[in-house]
Amino acid sequence: MRVGVLALQGTFIEHIGALRQLGVEAPAIRLPRELDTLDGLIIPGGESTTMLRLMKSFGLTQPINELAQLGLPIWGTCAGMILLAKDVSNYEMETLGLMHAKVRRNAFGRQVDSFEADLEVPLLGEEAFHAVFIRAPIIEETGPDVEVLSRLPDGTIVAIRQHQLLACAFHPEFTGDSRFHSYFLDMVSQQLQHNHEDRILRGSDPRS
Ligand code: GLN
Repeated sequence: MRVGVLALQGTFIEHIGALRQLGVEAPAIRLPRELDTLDGLIIPGGESTTMLRLMKSFGLTQPINELAQLGLPIWGTCAGMILLAKDVSNYEMETLGLMHAKVRRNAFGRQVDSFEADLEVPLLGEEAFHAVFIRAPIIEETGPDVEVLSRLPDGTIVAIRQHQLLACAFHPEFTGDSRFHSYFLDMVSQQLQHNHEDRILRGSDPRS
């Protein structure tokens, strides 16, 4: 399994480390051709406008969009989540627009722009997930095909899934708790299995 991490800016080293700990090949992605052989992609935290600018100048936005349409699992954390969302309520910016969600950048204001919280994430089990929020966005609205995976105690949505797309407002790559990464890897395995079955049905799998 090969899960690439977009490595233009931000917390890509931490994501690569987390994936390697789980025994997964995790190439750093900077060029469009490096996307070719991936089974999944992570867009890390960082600064979303800078990352977007670099993605555009490296010619990455269109190929990432196309791969997402073909079902490539993609996970965006923090700035990565902003880039996946269709709408940003408080900034004029052109995102990848893949997830039916409206997000708000830097939603926690100055005083608490960084904080940590123990989150309930039911699909990761009973134990709370210790989450680090750094100048984090929040999710203000979700479309009908979006599943809410976690909320802050006040009800604010901070993690969502839409089919093969996953997004969270915090940084699971910082805490050493690998459950979120394992969950994404399960999504990637399921998609690989689905692609394999699809090829068998269409009679085009060399292994069948
Ligand atoms: N505040 C950043 C942005 O708007 C996101 C912060 C992060 O990724 N930790 O892009």
